[in-house]
Amino acid sequence: MSPCCPRCGAAGAPLLFGLPIPQARAAAANGQLALGGCLVAEERPNWQCPHQHRWLDPDEEAWETWLMAVLVAHGYEPAEHD
Ligand SMILES: [Zn+2]
Repeated sequence: MSPCCPRCGAAGAPLLFGLPIPQARAAAANGQLALGGCLVAEERPNWQCPHQHRWLDPDEEAWETWLMAVLVAHGYEPAEHD
């Protein structure tokens, strides 16, 4: 379950900064991911709701898990090498 927007209560999508990989672009086109571009703010939010509200959720692990699930659903293959 993704976190809800503290302002409007809508379900959040993981907010990704930097140059997106193709799978991230596809996920963003479906609204399952939000792209923050290359702007690096001092206080970096990590979730965005469909109404463009952004906020920071301290649970980085949940963000990463959610982000990876969305990317994999769009064909991303995580590296399994160690
Ligand atoms: Zn909102």
